[in-house]
Amino acid sequence: MNSSYLKIAIQKSGRLLEKSLAMLNECGIRINSGYNQLRAVCDNFPCEILFLRDDDIPAYIEDGVADVGIVGENVVVEKQKDILLATRLGFAQCRLALAVPRDFAYTDIKSLEGKRIATSYPKILQNFLDEAGIQAEIHIISGSVEIAPSIGLADAICDIVSTGSTLLSNGLKEVQPVMKSEAVLVANHHLNDFKQKLLDKLIFRINAYKKARYYKYILLNAPADQLQAIIELIPGMKSPTVLPLAEPGWISIHSVIQEDDFWEIIEKLQACGAQGILVVPIEKMIL
Ligand code: ATP
Ligand code: ZN
Repeated sequence: MNSSYLKIAIQKSGRLLEKSLAMLNECGIRINSGYNQLRAVCDNFPCEILFLRDDDIPAYIEDGVADVGIVGENVVVEKQKDILLATRLGFAQCRLALAVPRDFAYTDIKSLEGKRIATSYPKILQNFLDEAGIQAEIHIISGSVEIAPSIGLADAICDIVSTGSTLLSNGLKEVQPVMKSEAVLVANHHLNDFKQKLLDKLIFRINAYKKARYYKYILLNAPADQLQAIIELIPGMKSPTVLPLAEPGWISIHSVIQEDDFWEIIEKLQACGAQGILVVPIEKMIL
């Protein structure tokens, strides 16, 4: 019964939906055209996609309604369900933070002693306040938390921030980070062997997708006598590919670099006489 394919829960609408589908697609999981608002089947991977409210996903996974799911780490921690964090996904990065009205004289966390704090994340907030030794009144609000201070419902808020522009436009300032979050893949603890193998396969593909996003393929032309210096700059996975150019004394070198090192390496390559440098995205990467 339902044991021959993996049931993958994703957010039915919201910030995670598009990137979850894009990631699954990159992992070779394509949704069959015949899908409705609740579920979809896939052509080339034994799985079914369930479209659910993100806040419900941890509970559905604990209960086995879904086998795995994609959800924000903030929701996973808040819901405190007995589920497995299988892997981080590197998208939907944000943080949960405390914010107060701009004219609030905030010095440190003690400024919140005895105050009313509005949030949709009461457990995470309570835990944070307990650790800081602060007693405050938590008001649970399910949406539009940022307006709570201006309507007199709270003195401060604890909410998700990515750029801070929503806070600013509501007359608030961020004063204290509470937790960092990104999208994660979560799983039921008791998958049967068949489903566990499918999950392992999925995680293998997700890792290739994550690495590919982190690395770039680089091609360049350089004077042949610079080969050793350039290999030291771009050693690649095993060793760079080197091809002769039609022009004597010149070679073409192909390798892989990490996105973070990009600008620094480019300058050093130019100093070695490298020309025609191309940096291109990698679709998948298996080491
Ligand atoms: P609802 O369930 O009512 O639709 P929600 O806040 O749970 O609201 P979204 O706004 O779609 O739903 O957010 C889903 C997840 O995306 C959040 O739990 C969080 O992990 C992440 N997220 C939220 N806001 C941002 C943001 N501004 N930037 C990046 N990631 C965010
Ligand atoms: Zn939600």
